[in-house]
Amino acid sequence: MSQISIVVPCFNESEVIETFHTTLVGVLEPTGREYEICYVDDGSSDHTRAHLQELASADRRTRYTSFSRNFGKESAMLAGLRMSRGEAVVLMDADLQHPPGLIPRMLELQGHGYDQVVAQRDRSGDGMVRTMLSQAYYRLVRRFMDVEVVDGAGDFRLLSRRAVNALLSLPESNRFSKGMFSWIGFDTVTFQYENVQRAAGQSKWGGRRLLNYGIDGLLSFNSRPLRMAIHGGLWLFLSALAYALWIIVNVLVDGVDTPGYATLVAVIIGMSGVQIATLGIIGEYVGRIYHEAKRRPHYVVRETSGAGGAGGTGGN
Ligand code: UDP
Ligand code: MG
Repeated sequence: MSQISIVVPCFNESEVIETFHTTLVGVLEPTGREYEICYVDDGSSDHTRAHLQELASADRRTRYTSFSRNFGKESAMLAGLRMSRGEAVVLMDADLQHPPGLIPRMLELQGHGYDQVVAQRDRSGDGMVRTMLSQAYYRLVRRFMDVEVVDGAGDFRLLSRRAVNALLSLPESNRFSKGMFSWIGFDTVTFQYENVQRAAGQSKWGGRRLLNYGIDGLLSFNSRPLRMAIHGGLWLFLSALAYALWIIVNVLVDGVDTPGYATLVAVIIGMSGVQIATLGIIGEYVGRIYHEAKRRPHYVVRETSGAGGAGGTGGN
């Protein structure tokens, strides 16, 4: 049977990493498949790296890469996918919110010929506000993006080797994996599982981080917001024209009445708002072009389990 790789991004997970590892191995062993576990320490400031060193020296099937600082989960997942060698690769979180117990089910579904097997969590136990906001967000994303993104279908998924290769072939530095998973295509199957709360430690996604992630998602996959700005601008321009015509007709019919000072100010303010918003959208795209043009690596490696303290960069 072909090898399975488990890819786990970890950022300050020292409280839970040992439990996670034990649980994971407990699930993988009975499958009888050959496996490897690829941990990526995303520049943790706690003892995560020390734990990973220990796990890797205890078992050669466990390997890790450690970043020089926190580069974000997207970069950590990319590094993990690059490390992986298996014919099937499972991406999962270290906090046990992605139950390792579901892996056999994923492998079974892959056996039916699927290239992507997605475990979709429901939202039980999540806060009301968060649930509502994220549902609204996904509605927005579905309207504006060319790719299909599903609420709750996150990064817990199994990918076939060719799906992984397809992901690795996408060169962009602004990575939004939810969109990329869908962009690469292939036969995908989704199954539901009940939401689990984090076993220990803290979520790294505060409000601001989530908002930025949301903006990334909206802008990463097309230029529809730019198109919208153009439409909105044109529409406003036309209504301003109609309004002007109406005033002219009014003056011709009734003669001059009170000077439209208030209206004028309102229109100027309104238009300025639209202009600034539009400039912001354009600026965001220009910023992205600048970012991509620099072609910086996605991350910098501090050390890997194989090569002691040797550093290096993650390539483009
Ligand atoms: N993570 C990471 N880098 C980061 C933030 C998070 O590698 O900058 C990892 C984290 O260790 C965990 C997974 O990504 O394994 C999901 O993070 P978290 O549980 O904080 O997110 P949530 O489940 O709250 O969405
Ligand atoms: Mg979590």
